[in-house]
Amino acid sequence: MSGVKVSDSMPVPETMKAWVIGDPDELIQVEKPVPMPSRAEILVRIDAVAICATDLEIIHYGTPALIEGGPPFNKNFTPGHEYMGTVAALGEGVDEFEIGDRVTVEIHAGCGQCKRCRQGMYTSCHNYGLNYGDVNKGHRANGFTTDGGFTEYAVNHINTVIKVPDTMSDEEATLVVTAGTSMYGLTELGGLVAGESVVVTGPGPIGLLAVAVAKSLGASPVILTGTRDSRLKIGLALGADHVINVKDTNVVDAVKELAGELGVDYVVECAGSEVAINDAIHMTNRGGKICLAAFPHDPAKIDLPHVVKNNMYLYGIRGEGRSATHRAMAFMADKQFDASLIHTHTFALDDLPEALRYARERVDDAIKVVVKARDAQQKLKAV
Ligand SMILES: [Zn+2]
Ligand SMILES: [Zn+2]
Repeated sequence: MSGVKVSDSMPVPETMKAWVIGDPDELIQVEKPVPMPSRAEILVRIDAVAICATDLEIIHYGTPALIEGGPPFNKNFTPGHEYMGTVAALGEGVDEFEIGDRVTVEIHAGCGQCKRCRQGMYTSCHNYGLNYGDVNKGHRANGFTTDGGFTEYAVNHINTVIKVPDTMSDEEATLVVTAGTSMYGLTELGGLVAGESVVVTGPGPIGLLAVAVAKSLGASPVILTGTRDSRLKIGLALGADHVINVKDTNVVDAVKELAGELGVDYVVECAGSEVAINDAIHMTNRGGKICLAAFPHDPAKIDLPHVVKNNMYLYGIRGEGRSATHRAMAFMADKQFDASLIHTHTFALDDLPEALRYARERVDDAIKVVVKARDAQQKLKAV
C-alpha cells in the first residue's frame, strides 16, 4: 500500500489467525488478511490481550458492539479491545512511533469531527459505529465497531497508542486502558482534587484500579466495598485505606463511620445493582458526585428525591476519554501502584474459548485473564 513503511526487521505476513464471532456465544478461528494502516495509523503486532467483561457481553448479547449498523454476529468481526504489542508498520504521516516500539492501546478513536470528539470526549462520539458505506465518518473503536485484538495484528490510530516502558510486562501493559477508564471517571468527568474522599463499590477490574488511581491522585480516605474478601484484600494492596464487606454490615453506616457522618465526596459505582446504586446515593455527601461505571441490564428505581434535595451529581461513564489512558500510564510507569495484582491467568491465543470461560465463570478466582498470541506456552499464575 502506498505510503506504508515496513521494516525487514519485522516482516509482516499476508495473513493472520483471527477469532471471529459467529452466532451468539460462538467463536470461530479463521485466517484473515493482515490489515494495513492508513494515514495517521499504525499496524500493531499483538503480543498480549486482556479479556474484559464487555467482551463477554459482546460475544453473548452483541451490544455494545455495532458492526455495519447492527449486531456483530456472523460478520467476520474480531472482538477484544485491551491489547498491547509491537509497532510493525507505519501509515502515511506517522513519525511519532518507530517500528519495533512496544505499545499499548486505548479503544476509541472517535470520528474527530463531531461536537464531543472536538471536546476530547471521543468515547461519546456522536458518530459511533458510522465507519462503513456512504455514512463513513471514520469512527474506530477496536473490538466494538472495528476489528479488535483476539488476533495477531490490528490497526490503530496514533492517538490511541501509548509507548510501554521496558520495565513493564506485556500483561501489565494490557491493563492501562482499565486504569485509564477509572482515571477519566475521577478526574475529567469528576474533577477530583487531592484530599477528597472516595468510595469504590464493587472490586472488579475497574473498581480495583479506581482504588489505585484514586489513591495515587491523593484522595483520602479511599474505601472499597464488596462481597469477596479475596478481592478486598487486593484492594488493600492497591491502596485502599479501608475495605468493607457488605455482607456483614450496613454499608452506608460503615462508610459514614469511617469518613464522617456527612458521607463521602465521590462514589465510583462499579456494582451495578439497584441496591448498590441506592447505597451509593445514601453514602454521598451533599453536593457530592457519583460515577456510574457499571451498566445494569434493567432500569433501576433510585431515590431521586434524595439526589435532588442534596444537590448531587450522577454521571455515567463510557470508556476512557480525554487521553486519560495516557495519564494512567504515567502512574503505572512510575510504579505508583502494581496493576499486575489483578492479572491472574494467561492463556495462548489458540485457547481463547477456555480463557473466556475462566473470565466468565471466574474459575480459580480469575480477575484479569490475558491471552498471548506469542510465547504460546500456557501459564497459570496464582494470585
Ligand atoms: Zn474493557
Ligand atoms: Zn466524533
